[in-house]
Amino acid sequence: MPHINPRGVYPVYLLCGARIIRGEENEFMKKTLIIANWKCNPTTLIEAKQLFNSVKRGLRNIKDKNVEIVICPPFIYIAAISLNGPLNFKLAGQDSFWEENGAFTGEISSTMLRNMGCQYVILGHSERRKYFKETDEMINRKVKSVILARLNPIFCIGENWDERKENLTQKVLRAQVEKGLKGIAKKEIKKVIIAYEPVWAIGTGKACSPEEAEKSGNFIRKIISRLYNQKIAKNIKILYGGSVNSQNAAGYIFGAKLQGLLVGGASLDASEFTRIIKNFN
Ligand code: PEP
Repeated sequence: MPHINPRGVYPVYLLCGARIIRGEENEFMKKTLIIANWKCNPTTLIEAKQLFNSVKRGLRNIKDKNVEIVICPPFIYIAAISLNGPLNFKLAGQDSFWEENGAFTGEISSTMLRNMGCQYVILGHSERRKYFKETDEMINRKVKSVILARLNPIFCIGENWDERKENLTQKVLRAQVEKGLKGIAKKEIKKVIIAYEPVWAIGTGKACSPEEAEKSGNFIRKIISRLYNQKIAKNIKILYGGSVNSQNAAGYIFGAKLQGLLVGGASLDASEFTRIIKNFN
């Protein structure tokens, strides 16, 4: 029986140990994945350590049975943070290059990230698509390299405001999924996490409603089902990202039935980020 969350209007389902009791739950979907994308912040190592330590302090009594927390610092801080254990957190890169090594000045490879202790890599973030002109084809090469390096790609897709206004959301999502996952085999797709991030909701304070996020989540599952099969579509993790905060976070998990959140701005505020996580414990 759903209970009403005292923080909001979304139903909270009864927790039993690490499991959320819902008919459609399965092993793969057990933990809510909360990803902190620090983007190009903060500007000093001291601040990066302070932020990480504050998050750690804020979460010291949290049982990590229900939540998997992933921190995505700028590359240059990963080493300092990975040494700052013991870690209940996982680490991720915010991007990676598709070649393993070589004459590619300025690039960081997926293998390097794995060797620094990362388990995930964000790929295809709308800021990389916009400011660095990353195409679906480039992102597809990156997805393949991340899987080859035995990491999990967090593959970001989403429509911009004009596309939404013109009712092109599904067309955009379909093209991004088909092109971004081209050539990814059935056994590899299990490593992929999809983040639905409507571009108009990122960093704007205008979050997408849980109803709309659910609709897009269901549509993405439909594409995955057609490209792979129903079981894979049911099990693939789909996250929401775009102006998530401690007030709206629960709606995407308990209302929209998505499997996690990609948090940008709010992850730079340790108290707010810990409040987001406490929604799920
Ligand atoms: C993001 O960086 O992916 C993001 C969703 O940012 P914000 O939470 O600030 O909208």
